[in-house]
Amino acid sequence: MGVSTALFLARGGARVTLIDAATAVCAGASRWNEGKIHLGHLYAGDPSLRTAHRLLPAGLAFRPLVEALIGGSLAPALSPADDWYLVHRRSVVDADTAGRYYDAVTTLAATHPAAAGYLRPLGNARVERLTARELDAVADRASIVAGFRVPERSVSTRWVADRLVDAVAAEPRIDTRLSTRVTGLTTGPAGLDGPLTVVTAEGAEGPFDAVVNALWDGRAALDASLGLAVPAAWSSRYRVAVFLETTAPVTMPNVVIVTGPFGDVKNYDGRALYLSWYDAGLLAHGTGPALPPVPALDEAATARLADEVVARLASLLPAVADVPALTASRQVAGGWVVAAGLGPLDDPASSLHRRDRLGLTRHGRYLSVDTGKYSVAPWLGRAVADAIL
Ligand SMILES: Cc1cc2nc3c(=O)[nH]c(=O)nc-3n(C[C@H](O)[C@H](O)[C@H](O)COP(=O)(O)OP(=O)(O)OC[C@H]3O[C@@H](n4cnc5c(N)ncnc54)[C@H](O)[C@@H]3O)c2cc1C
Repeated sequence: MGVSTALFLARGGARVTLIDAATAVCAGASRWNEGKIHLGHLYAGDPSLRTAHRLLPAGLAFRPLVEALIGGSLAPALSPADDWYLVHRRSVVDADTAGRYYDAVTTLAATHPAAAGYLRPLGNARVERLTARELDAVADRASIVAGFRVPERSVSTRWVADRLVDAVAAEPRIDTRLSTRVTGLTTGPAGLDGPLTVVTAEGAEGPFDAVVNALWDGRAALDASLGLAVPAAWSSRYRVAVFLETTAPVTMPNVVIVTGPFGDVKNYDGRALYLSWYDAGLLAHGTGPALPPVPALDEAATARLADEVVARLASLLPAVADVPALTASRQVAGGWVVAAGLGPLDDPASSLHRRDRLGLTRHGRYLSVDTGKYSVAPWLGRAVADAIL
């Protein structure tokens, strides 16, 4: 979010200081996530379609905006096949209702004026219900009751992050301050309507004509320190997944087990895989603006976590059991997921099934931006930069 905003601002003529507590930009959740470029299919738990309407324009704009930011094609980063949404028997949305929801979202996407920008052509896109034979070939049928092929794709977020790092380094109007933690903001007599100074653990930066809070996990705490409202229902989850490379090509489909706290398999190019199981990868969970502590994982704990992810997925998708023997390299990594919403994902009433409450809040020259989703960041970054320019 911060990198997209900074690049759009710099290319619009502004001088930008990009501050990050990490030792590199793009080292947080935006490097270590599944990279699903949402059209809205995942949010069948929000039948109002509000989430789909909110995520759709951003997902359709992702490819052209990122290609402009990195100055090249996104093609090498794209997952080559549509996602299979497999409905778990404990899904909070039954299979027929989910199927109707996927149809509605697909129609919204295919008829949207910006549809041509998506990662795959959407002109004739439709949802296909998987046949019994297709399901039998991949899934444990005692747990998976139905499946749908939906026209949603993903990107390799590590590939994108590497190109964004290069784009920032090549941009003369961006000054980057790494290993610099933002702790507050000071104002002059005009308050948030005047020049703003950013307070960091190392000193101060500024004054600036405008400050964008794109701190994601650190955003709510900074807003709260300025006396700005943070949603009463606010949750922070630290989630990790398994990113691995195989020694030989694997033919596994891209699978999302829905709807609830289940898992995903992403097969980016036959050799680079993403495996996640929600409960196994949830390392910390808290509510309110302060973040809960994240336990450090030593080598043994990391290996146990990866084994559990594989075992839980393999109990539903037997082919996953073959992956460990084919693994060339493996990394367990992830980041924060912060959101306006509360409640466990196996509860249909959880407000986390609704993910439309994201975006920009503006107080004078201070702009606070809730990314919401990776797929939204470039689109929102463009909007934040436009608001400032
Ligand atoms: C396992 C997992 C899977 C996911 N899958 C998907 C998916 O498939 N599709 C999707 O759209 N979204 C997905 N998400 C969500 C997505 O990753 C996030 O919504 C998105 O990356 C947030 O982008 P960001 O730039 O706001 O945050 P980040 O990329 O985390 O960047 C925030 C930056 O702020 C810095 N920072 C924080 N606090 C401070 C401070 N006080 N001072 C200085 N710097 C600070 C951090 O160091 C970091 O560099 C997933 C998330 C996880 C964890």
